[in-house]
Amino acid sequence: MEIMDENTNSIRSVKVKIQYDNIPSYCRKCKLQGHMEDECRILHPELKKTTSNPEEETQQNQQRRMRNGKCVGSRK
Ligand SMILES: [Zn+2]
Repeated sequence: MEIMDENTNSIRSVKVKIQYDNIPSYCRKCKLQGHMEDECRILHPELKKTTSNPEEETQQNQQRRMRNGKCVGSRK
């Protein structure tokens, strides 16, 4: 992005992270708002794996395992 500096009359090239604040995320594949095509799980099925926190999943699995263990343990 080029920015005109009024003080020095020079054009500075500035890298600006483009934000889509004024553009609502819209998926043309699903014809739905709420997510971009980049985030579309139908277009990118592999996103399902990356979006879900693997640590959280393992914690849930651990809790489930603990619960099962308790069930088995209480049955003397
Ligand atoms: Zn979509």
